[in-house]
Amino acid sequence: MARSFSEIGAKVARGDAIVLTAQEVGEALADGGRLAPEEVDVVTCATRAVMSGTYAVLSFPAASPGSFVRAKGARLNGVPALVGPCPNERLGHLDLIVFGTAESREDSRYGGGHLFRDLVEGEDVRVEVDVEGGGFEVDLSLADMSTARLFGTRHCFKNYSAFVNPGEERVSTIFHASTFDPCWTGASVSGCGRLNPLENDPLLETIGVGTRVLMNGAEGFVLGKGTRSSPDRPNLSGYAEMHEMDPEYMGGFATSAGPECISSWAVPIPVLREGILERMAAPEGAIPLPVLDVTTRKELGRATYADVWEGVDLMVKFDPEACKRCTACRAEAICPTGAIAFRDFLPTLDRKRCFNCGLCATSCAGDVFRAHLGSLRFAGREVPIVVRQSDRLRAERLAEELKRRILDGRFRMTEMAERISP
Ligand code: SF4
Ligand code: SF4
Repeated sequence: MARSFSEIGAKVARGDAIVLTAQEVGEALADGGRLAPEEVDVVTCATRAVMSGTYAVLSFPAASPGSFVRAKGARLNGVPALVGPCPNERLGHLDLIVFGTAESREDSRYGGGHLFRDLVEGEDVRVEVDVEGGGFEVDLSLADMSTARLFGTRHCFKNYSAFVNPGEERVSTIFHASTFDPCWTGASVSGCGRLNPLENDPLLETIGVGTRVLMNGAEGFVLGKGTRSSPDRPNLSGYAEMHEMDPEYMGGFATSAGPECISSWAVPIPVLREGILERMAAPEGAIPLPVLDVTTRKELGRATYADVWEGVDLMVKFDPEACKRCTACRAEAICPTGAIAFRDFLPTLDRKRCFNCGLCATSCAGDVFRAHLGSLRFAGREVPIVVRQSDRLRAERLAEELKRRILDGRFRMTEMAERISP
């Protein structure tokens, strides 16, 4: 069985295509189940994770024309931006590039990723501009920006790795919101397992330059392969417009080595041939998860994604009445997304901001935050997972969302313009 992209596209356009999420395909094929290739036309996949390789290009009028010659520096909510590449001489206009990992000068737990989400939520941000002989400040929102475009230089990677600290010292790292406890105490994991787009198309047979995707809920396009992409560990670059994004799928993630950036991708995979579905039959337990030493990056063993996503709580449970009213709330202090706050001496949880990383569950002195996060089993060891840098729950929702949009005609699939060699 082999079909062309246009055959599948025609079925989608007629409204009689069968679209399933990768989760649904996996369930249908579990335990020897069968799914004939003609029973599914498109499979939607998704991933949501901390993705460092993110930057935004922002362009907007900051002052009246002629009020300054050219900007020398700029900060948005304290997050430093690169000015340019266009100098916009005497136009009062700024073109800026902001890295998702840039750290605010005022708050080490606030960075580019947090800023991008605040902008998409419609918040005003404070823009400080350095010009010859002084500077000025102005408050602006996303609505004031003619261009606000997010780029991924290293996104949508094919699953990832887990990290442990086998040493005897605590380690500051981008893989933990606090310093990483020593002596194999816990593991940090990343990757959405069998829902991951490149896990389902590792040879990039259907995903290529020009493939339309959802990035943070907005339509965008694949630009090519991402940085450090390799046949074993491919990843993609792409972009989408920030004006169309959904804040729930993006944001900042504070770590002990500086702020990181959360991004989400949903990708449609047309079932062009039989082998594509066969690959999707692989259970989580067949997807390897290399476990690395967080300091040396040497591989210490291999677990699987069954350890990460099977029989665990995808969503953190929350019971504010169980609060012991500690002098200082460890859960609030460690939360990498700022989802925990206190109102009338009781903890509150902003579910839309929560990433389900699980850190509050491993830090709370009471039972306010609870989650079974599972353990990694590798090389004769069992190490409890203490932080997840992927949000499988939102990835599942995003795959569902893409399926709905394809079925009701809101998302038009595009055939790749060119293949990408991973
Ligand atoms: S750590 Fe837990 S029990 Fe203590 S104040 Fe925070 S939420 Fe309450
Ligand atoms: S799981 Fe807990 S620590 Fe993690 S983002 Fe949600 S509230 Fe914050």
